[in-house]
Amino acid sequence: MIKKIFFVMMVVIIVATSSCSVKEADLTPVTEKTQPPKTTKEQEQTTTVQSTTAETTTTTKKLTDSDYEEYKVNEIGHIMVVMYHGIMNNPPYHVTKDEFREDLQYMYDHGYRLITLDEFLSGKINVPIGTTPIHLTFDDGLNTTFALKEVDGELVVDENTAIGIIEDFVKEHPDFGKAASLYFHDTTENFEGAGTDKERFDWLLEHGYELGNHTATHDNLSTLSKENCLKEIGSVEEYVLSLYPDFHMRAIAYPFGARPDESFMDIALDGQYNGVSYSYEVGFREGPSGPFLPIIHKDFSKYNAPRVRGSKGADGDLWWYFDYYENNDYLKYISDGNPNTVVVKENKLDNISEEVRASDEFEIITY
Ligand SMILES: [Zn+2]
Repeated sequence: MIKKIFFVMMVVIIVATSSCSVKEADLTPVTEKTQPPKTTKEQEQTTTVQSTTAETTTTTKKLTDSDYEEYKVNEIGHIMVVMYHGIMNNPPYHVTKDEFREDLQYMYDHGYRLITLDEFLSGKINVPIGTTPIHLTFDDGLNTTFALKEVDGELVVDENTAIGIIEDFVKEHPDFGKAASLYFHDTTENFEGAGTDKERFDWLLEHGYELGNHTATHDNLSTLSKENCLKEIGSVEEYVLSLYPDFHMRAIAYPFGARPDESFMDIALDGQYNGVSYSYEVGFREGPSGPFLPIIHKDFSKYNAPRVRGSKGADGDLWWYFDYYENNDYLKYISDGNPNTVVVKENKLDNISEEVRASDEFEIITY
């Protein structure tokens, strides 16, 4: 335990001493081009609009340009990925229980809805019309992020952990969505508490949470040889496969936000170690940074996807961005309520990647 506390403290110290200034360029809005649309404009589209009544019935409604205008639909806008660690009074990398609940309440009250990593990575985002998706991540496999406890012979989530707080919040606000991805190490001590490591991961997966790689020992990948990077990354995949023979993680969060050397950057996401292959769709760095582009954006960088630090502390942290998007709501992703369409203003069409525009996976609609 002492070793663990020391480790966490070291992490905090190292991270806190790294450069945290917000770069002007990072916040500059994506250039909006004003070329005419290249796809056929759809005047009408069928979508399922979530009913506002207490009943769970849904109604089908034809959306028109004026609906898109009214809701300011922008499905090429920014989606924040928030980086949290544990629940404790140790800012800016940790938040207290009250602070975390306050974050969730702000998100809920201001039209943010939780999405899964799968939704973020597939671009098929299923949130109600007019709302903005947001994804929560938790690094370091801490037992204040998630732990089980035994009650009457049953393993239940500890309500004082981040996941326990999310579970409670969602019970009170069922339309918030329930999702988070958790990044951990090559150790059976992840999320230490009641139950075995397998039972803890079982609970998370059964309750809709997602798992990601945070390297074997939280080493700084930018300082390691290619061989050691492969080991740091691959051994976590090997560990997960020892618990779930067919399960593959889809994302890595770089410790300290540091990626492998430029000359072998590819192994951050694709590699082999000890006969085990890994393949990730995204590598998350850490904030303060931006812009928080969606995966279908032409400038989305899968090796270097930004996250915002879940803190009130500094410029560029979560609460700074809350205000930023209040004041610049044209930059936010705002959904049309249909995961299979990409609805954008005509002058934003060119921001959608060529690949997405060429595929028939999404129906692209401009207005
Ligand atoms: Zn970490």
